[in-house]
Amino acid sequence: MKWWTTWKRRRVLRKHRIDEALWRRVVLQLPFIGELARDDAKRLRELTLLFLSEKAITGAHGLVLTDHMRVAIAAQACLPILNLGLDWYDDWVGVVVYAGDFRVRRQDVDASGVVHEWDDALAGEAMPGGPVVLSWESAANAPEMNVVLHEFAHKLDMRNGAADGLPPLHADMDRRRWHAAWQHAYEGFCDALERARDTWLDPYAAEHPSEFFAVLSEAFFEWPQETQRRYPDVYDQLRLFYRQDPAARAKP
Ligand SMILES: [Zn+2]
Repeated sequence: MKWWTTWKRRRVLRKHRIDEALWRRVVLQLPFIGELARDDAKRLRELTLLFLSEKAITGAHGLVLTDHMRVAIAAQACLPILNLGLDWYDDWVGVVVYAGDFRVRRQDVDASGVVHEWDDALAGEAMPGGPVVLSWESAANAPEMNVVLHEFAHKLDMRNGAADGLPPLHADMDRRRWHAAWQHAYEGFCDALERARDTWLDPYAAEHPSEFFAVLSEAFFEWPQETQRRYPDVYDQLRLFYRQDPAARAKP
């Protein structure tokens, strides 16, 4: 059915477009998108349009989504797949947006078999094969993190079965180099955290290698030059994986 998808996408691009003024307003608030070269920006805008036509973005608990919210979410979701293609998101369809952070019920069984339950307040969550859930308040007003890039990085990580910090690598990538770069960086990060040194990245990144991957993916797109300076090997692996070099296009 590849031909049908291609045909459908061409048709969407022919018949629809994102309003120029709206796109400009969205980009103004997302400087890391504003730094894209003209051709890349054009492709991102098209990809955003296709994303909006193929994915259902819905507001939770009656939240009414504006075009601005939809486009801002879709544009950030599409940045990581700009050179990978929308098919990297073909294993799920929905994005659910809450007005603010949302609560999920967690359950865990400890070594002695006792079940523990608690509530977690989240800014975002990505479920394997399921929707991406986002808090709009965090997406729009938390400059120290980018919950949209974060959750979609998890989605890419999950494509090969597990959220483990290892997305499906391209044929021209070296798995050993990937592991060596990430392991070294992760250990260094956890070590710095234990010694209460400045870690630059959100300490939450230490939770699990999958979180480390998601947090560094945010940094890769939002603060590429600093990411490259602090984590050159990880930056290289992310550059190969995302097939983009944001540090080269970013203003110092
Ligand atoms: Zn996460």
